[in-house]
Amino acid sequence: MSDATQILFAAGPKRWPTYAPLLRQALEDADIFYDLRPDIDDEDVEYIIYTPDSDVTDFTRFPKLRAVLNLWAGVESIIGNPTLNVPLTRMVDDAGLTQGMVEWVTGHVLRHHLGMDAHIVNPDHIWQPVAAPLSRARPVTILGLGALGQACGSALTALDFPVTGWSRSAKDVPGLTCLSGPQGLNEALQSAQILVLLLPNTPATENIVNSKTLALLPRGAVVINPGRGPLINDADLISALDSGQLSHATLDVFRTEPLPSDHPFWQHPKITVTPHIASETRPETAVHVIVDNIQRSLAGAPLRHLVDKTAGY
Ligand code: NAP
Repeated sequence: MSDATQILFAAGPKRWPTYAPLLRQALEDADIFYDLRPDIDDEDVEYIIYTPDSDVTDFTRFPKLRAVLNLWAGVESIIGNPTLNVPLTRMVDDAGLTQGMVEWVTGHVLRHHLGMDAHIVNPDHIWQPVAAPLSRARPVTILGLGALGQACGSALTALDFPVTGWSRSAKDVPGLTCLSGPQGLNEALQSAQILVLLLPNTPATENIVNSKTLALLPRGAVVINPGRGPLINDADLISALDSGQLSHATLDVFRTEPLPSDHPFWQHPKITVTPHIASETRPETAVHVIVDNIQRSLAGAPLRHLVDKTAGY
């Protein structure tokens, strides 16, 4: 066995050819490999670069394991793994991931704000000279003020949308009205002509969008969900669309992915489905986050972006 730090890339064979040269260039002294080679014992592995679609599910195989570094922002499918007893980090501050989400959210907010659909799909050639109000008259609320929620909020504020953000702990983000707690949620919803969900999927956030919370929105509001599918009670969402309480929902994430072809969301005229493409981890920038954390760990420094297993994110 060599003295080099042993790093297992358990993030799928398709990603390995892209990540291998980037990781090996950044961590010259480490031995980084995809899957387990015959000459590497499980017991030598010190770090695992991971995605939740990995075949690796039993972490007790790796007695020297020091940390698992998740390449994705969401950790709901690994956080409850009882064999995982070392620190788990998640993808935060990947500049590419953040920028991708800012672009996706801004694009979909502008689509609804400007009422673009009426002009893009107009088979009867109806002249509809109704201009949208300026963005300053279109309050947007973002549930979740983490790395992505804050970046999206700042981008929308720069376009002059009044933005309210809601999070678990109190926040102070320049330009945004920041709220927290149950009363803060009610207040955040009451003004939201456009509601953007950027919360993680945890026991506390599941079904946070339900008949009661939807009823607090101004009539005709729009829901945009690039967060996680379980944030929404699907049946309650459809009822709110059918009653006119909501005018549209743009959904990127679902309880079951891929969204089954017979799911009512596909058929609903007021739902836009996008296939979990709001933003993805970008290898060129994500590698810096992973490498920085491995180097910190090797130097005895605290890891960044640690998952709080009690809070669920
Ligand atoms: P993050 O930095 O962990 O931020 C999460 C935010 O949610 C924080 O503001 C947190 O509050 C808040 N929160 C968590 N639990 C809450 C609760 N019970 N009540 C109120 N607020 C709560 O996460 P992020 O990097 O911004 O990412 C957000 C989510 O986006 C991810 O978890 C993932 O599900 C999703 N995502 C989707 C895609 C896609 O392509 N569709 C891509 C990347 C990420 P505190 O600030 O008080 O901690």
